[in-house]
Amino acid sequence: MRTDKDYQNRLYSYKRNIYLKGEKVGRDHPSFQPGINAVSENFRLALNPQYQDLFTTASHLTGKRVNRFNCPPRSIEDLLKKIECVRALAQYLGGCALRCGGMDSLSGLSVVTREVDQEFGTDYHQQFLKFLQYMQDNDLVTSILLTDPKGDRSLRPYQQADPDMYLRILEKKSAGLVVNGAKLFGETAVQDELTVAPTRAMTEKDGPYALSFSVPADYDGVTILCKPVQAPKRKKIKAPYADYGYPGITITVFDKVFVPWERVWLCGEWKYAGRLSSLVALYHRTSYCGCKAAVTDLMLGAAALVAEYNGLEREKHIREKLAHLAATAEQVYACGVTGAVKAKPSSSGTFIPDPIYINAGRYHAGMNIFHEYETLSDISAGQGINLPTEEDFLTPELDHFTKKYIKRKADVPAENIWRLFRMVDEMLYSEQAGFWQAAGLHGGGSPVMERLTILANYDMDAKKSLVKRLAGII
Ligand SMILES: Cc1cc2nc3c(=O)[nH]c(=O)nc-3n(C[C@H](O)[C@H](O)[C@H](O)COP(=O)(O)OP(=O)(O)OC[C@H]3O[C@@H](n4cnc5c(N)ncnc54)[C@H](O)[C@@H]3O)c2cc1C
Repeated sequence: MRTDKDYQNRLYSYKRNIYLKGEKVGRDHPSFQPGINAVSENFRLALNPQYQDLFTTASHLTGKRVNRFNCPPRSIEDLLKKIECVRALAQYLGGCALRCGGMDSLSGLSVVTREVDQEFGTDYHQQFLKFLQYMQDNDLVTSILLTDPKGDRSLRPYQQADPDMYLRILEKKSAGLVVNGAKLFGETAVQDELTVAPTRAMTEKDGPYALSFSVPADYDGVTILCKPVQAPKRKKIKAPYADYGYPGITITVFDKVFVPWERVWLCGEWKYAGRLSSLVALYHRTSYCGCKAAVTDLMLGAAALVAEYNGLEREKHIREKLAHLAATAEQVYACGVTGAVKAKPSSSGTFIPDPIYINAGRYHAGMNIFHEYETLSDISAGQGINLPTEEDFLTPELDHFTKKYIKRKADVPAENIWRLFRMVDEMLYSEQAGFWQAAGLHGGGSPVMERLTILANYDMDAKKSLVKRLAGII
């Protein structure tokens, strides 16, 4: 297993293929550092005996102890541990663990490559398992790249005016495929490998768009356009919260990229595009049941501490708001646990969580996210945005003002008040806060996708039958 330094050194050695504000940059650009710090913690914790059980597991391929983020779940216990692991990591980092997406795409692929082989007699699964072992042995980080540009949303992929609105197969050769297009979103600047899968179900005419593969992140023909997300910046008053953050959101372009057959996971088997897309999304929403619970934990912790420092922790209206946050966190988490406990094995041996509970959990998280921001904003009442700057707070001749006029309860030191409200300001009103809000609503699929998935899997007739019997309708 790699150390954090191994991860960083390999990342920094990659070919320059990232554009950031018009400049071609290396992975050592300071903009990526908060994200690299966050991923690095995963490597550190995985090597810490205290966390080994949560962050590592025995590979079903080799029996070796490997990072959990490279292991599709082989049991209910694996799924439960994955949720615990993601929640613990997001609590520790104060935000995204930046690793679960890769595990989720590998999990979906481990199921679907086997199912495609069973129907078409292809050889995707064995090839995929070799790739999985490569990922495990080298302790690499991969992505979840599903979202295509999509163009006109009312049209299918093959109907688009520009055929590249969905990543597609351009040409089949004896040694592999040439692919063209792009995938939107993701944090590919801090990843070793890019794993892509379809974003939606396909029809026969969409065949060239039923495509999945993995290539190295600095592979020939891959260009990454990165929009930085400004992380909190501290000069002197350091805090762990300000060390971690998002490394920048990316558009990953595949410009006539050649993918060798041993890295292709789906190639025109259109019937399985929807299956792969919905399974990867399902695994990712399972992760969200851990990480979104952690985000709410932090909102709750911050709101409770503000109330305590303000001397208002016993106020009924505040306690009710805190109870609502606690209920949200635990309902989302409980949906994840229920989805995991009701998981069933697939033909590949990978366990598939229950889609209704998982989607209910992710949906509940998405529908509550802005209310959580509202609650913390309400209880903290804007003090964060009116806090003395770090420079003023550290200027001795201003002590008389800065340390005096931000005071709350007499026994809470001014510096603790400054630290708390600074973090609350960053959680609520910073550029990064806006980014997390979008992620809280849309990451893993917008709420409409969860509603549709619940409806598609729900036995509505059974509910109608209950009422028919009670109403005496035959
Ligand atoms: C912070 C963040 C991180 C993300 N990370 C990743 C990632 O790592 N990997 C990844 O693959 N994706 C990622 N996503 C993408 C995310 O999953 C998508 O934003 C989400 O699935 C919505 O897709 P879209 O942006 O194309 O929206 P759209 O499809 O444009 O949806 C916009 C609205 O239009 C509606 N709509 C769309 N099509 C139709 C239709 N045919 N009929 C009726 N209504 C329609 C939708 O319901 C929605 O309300 C991320 C998103 C965010 C915000």
